[in-house]
Amino acid sequence: MSFSDVRVPAANLLGEEGRGYAQFLRILDEGRIAIAALATGLAQGCVDESVKYAKERHAFGKPIAANQAIQFKIADMEMKAHTSRLAWRDAAVRLVSGAPFKKEAALAKLHSSTIAVDNAREATQIHGGYGFMNEYPVARMWRDSKILEIGEGTSEVQRMLIARELGLAG
Ligand SMILES: Cc1cc2nc3c(=O)[nH]c(=O)nc-3n(C[C@H](O)[C@H](O)[C@H](O)COP(=O)(O)OP(=O)(O)OC[C@H]3O[C@@H](n4cnc5c(N)ncnc54)[C@H](O)[C@@H]3O)c2cc1C
Repeated sequence: MSFSDVRVPAANLLGEEGRGYAQFLRILDEGRIAIAALATGLAQGCVDESVKYAKERHAFGKPIAANQAIQFKIADMEMKAHTSRLAWRDAAVRLVSGAPFKKEAALAKLHSSTIAVDNAREATQIHGGYGFMNEYPVARMWRDSKILEIGEGTSEVQRMLIARELGLAG
């Protein structure tokens, strides 16, 4: 979008004049924490659905949950959902306390969205063919997880931001 010769009454000014771009970037930084929280919810949902299904589904005469391969998958998913939660909460605590949070927001967004996709992939695998059916929540989670790596800045953009915060880029 571009605007030219548009007059906005002073009373309708949002924020500070001349600081629009900086304000816009801060909104993106804050939004990344929200996306990380969203991703954590999806990652945890994948764990919850997988635990439930693994206990219900019987294959070769026993619940699939009795297989250590399934248990280990779900244990890893739980670990990832946990670190994902720690990451966005750390960024959120910094935001509300007035501390710098740009890098932590990018770290949380990158970490949590990666985990959301990882957990959605594993949850779909644990559900087997049913994981592909819309009747099961994991089918939606698998599809929805991908946008978390794109919206509010792609994973590549988060890496660029983190590198810049580390003084690696101009
Ligand atoms: C459902 C949906 C909802 C959305 N909602 C919003 C919204 O509410 N607000 C909003 O502002 N935007 C929104 N977006 C837009 C979203 O933020 C952009 O799609 C996203 O930032 C990526 O930009 P792009 O699509 O132009 O991809 P591009 O910038 O064209 O990037 C394409 C690919 O190239 C990579 N790439 C680009 N530049 C570099 C580089 N320098 N180095 C390495 N890799 C690079 C990207 O990481 C990506 O993988 C939404 C998008 C979708 C699909």
